[in-house]
Amino acid sequence: MSKATSVLFGIEEEFDVVSVERLDPGQVQIIIEMRSAVAPCPACGVFTSRVKDRPVRRVRDLPASGQQTKLWWRKRRLLCVEALCPRRSFTQESVAIRPRGRVTERLRAKVAEAIAAGNRAVSEVAGEYGVSWPTAHRALIAAAARWLPEPTPARRLGIDETRFGSVRWILDGVTWKRSDPWLTSFVDCSRDGPGSLLGLSPGRTGGCVREWLAEQTAAFRDTVELVVIDPSAPYAAGIRAALPKARIAVDKWHLVALANTMITQVRQRVTRDLLGRRGTVADPVWVNRRLLLTGAEHLSTKQWKRLHDMLDSCDPTKEIGAAWGVKERLRLLLGEREPSKIRWRLADFYDAAIHAAMPETTRLAQTIQTWWPAILIALTEDVTNARTEGFNRIIKQTKRVGCGYRNLANYQRRILSHIAVTRPRRSAA
Ligand SMILES: [Zn+2]
Repeated sequence: MSKATSVLFGIEEEFDVVSVERLDPGQVQIIIEMRSAVAPCPACGVFTSRVKDRPVRRVRDLPASGQQTKLWWRKRRLLCVEALCPRRSFTQESVAIRPRGRVTERLRAKVAEAIAAGNRAVSEVAGEYGVSWPTAHRALIAAAARWLPEPTPARRLGIDETRFGSVRWILDGVTWKRSDPWLTSFVDCSRDGPGSLLGLSPGRTGGCVREWLAEQTAAFRDTVELVVIDPSAPYAAGIRAALPKARIAVDKWHLVALANTMITQVRQRVTRDLLGRRGTVADPVWVNRRLLLTGAEHLSTKQWKRLHDMLDSCDPTKEIGAAWGVKERLRLLLGEREPSKIRWRLADFYDAAIHAAMPETTRLAQTIQTWWPAILIALTEDVTNARTEGFNRIIKQTKRVGCGYRNLANYQRRILSHIAVTRPRRSAA
C-alpha cells in the first residue's frame, strides 16, 4: 500500500495501511500495522525488533469517506533481547489506540464532542457511532477531564443556586434520608471577564461553598475580592469562613424580587380580608396585578391611570398602595450609586416602610437592614449576578436531555462539558 492511503486514512504518523478491501457497498475492511518495527522494552528500555507473534485485533473507528470501516490492527508482540531483563515479551503501543483499547482515540473524541456540544443523550450518540453506552460514557469522562481546566482566578465571584431534580427519599443503610435537590454554581462575575462558569457544588449550604472554595488553589482564593450572592445567610457564612478577606455584595435583582413578592402577599391578604376569598378574574385588582409589579418608570400614561383607578376602587385600606410605594422606593434606592443620594433614598425607604406599618413591609425593611452592608457594596461597586442567570438556562436544558440525572457527578460533568465545548466557539464567532 502507498503512503498516500495512510495519509488519506489520517494515521500516517504511527501506522501504515496494509490493505483495504470492500466488504459491501457501504463498508470497507482496513488492516493497519505500526510503521516502526522496533520498540523499546517497557522494563529495561532496550530496543528490539524481534517479533514473537502478530496478533490481530478489531478496533472501532470513525467512518472513512462516508463508509463504515471494519478496522483490524495487526500488532507486533516483540521479544526483549536483553539477557538480564525479566520481561520476555511485550506488545507495541500506540498513541492513537490506548493499550488494550478497542476504540480509536479519534472516535472517542468524536463521541465525547457529539454528546457535550450537542447536549445529546449518551445512548443516542453511542448508537450513531456503533459503540456501547459505557464506552461512550467513559469517552465523555476522559474528554471532560481535558476540557475542564482548573478554574481561572476571578476577582469577582458570583454564587447562585439552581434546583436539581425533585426531592426524593433515599434509603441510607437503615435510615431514610431526604435528597437535596439543589446545586450551587460558581461564576466569574468580573466586569471585563469572560463570565465563565467556574464550577458546581451539590447543595446550597455554607458547607458546600466552603468545600468548593477549599478545593481551589490558594492563589484562586486570594484573588477573589468580591463575592456576589442572593440574600442567603448560609452562603454568607460559608464565604466569611473560606474567604475572610473578601467583601460580600448582594445581588440587587434578588432584592427587587423580594419586594415584588411582598406586594403580592399584601394584595392577596387585602383581597382575602375584603372579599373573604381569593381573587379571581372578576376582581380588577387581580386582573391588573401585573401593573403592581411593573417598574413605575415603565408605566405608560394609560397604565398609570389604570393603576390609580384600581387603587382608588379596590384598596379602601390603602394598604396595596402603601406596599407599592415601599417597593418603588426600594427600586429607586437600588438605582443610586452616589453615597449622599443613597443615604437619602434609604431614609425615604425606611420612612415609607414605617408609615405602611404592615407585617409584609416591616419584614422587607428588616431584610434590607440585615443585609445593608452587602447592599451598599452592591450599589457603590455596581455589581449584578446577571451572568449566573444565563448559566441556569443551560443547566436546566442539560437536565431535560438526561431526563433528570440520578448521578450528580454525571450531571455536573455534562453541564460543564457543554459549556466548555460550546463557549469558546461562541466567543470566536
Ligand atoms: Zn527488557
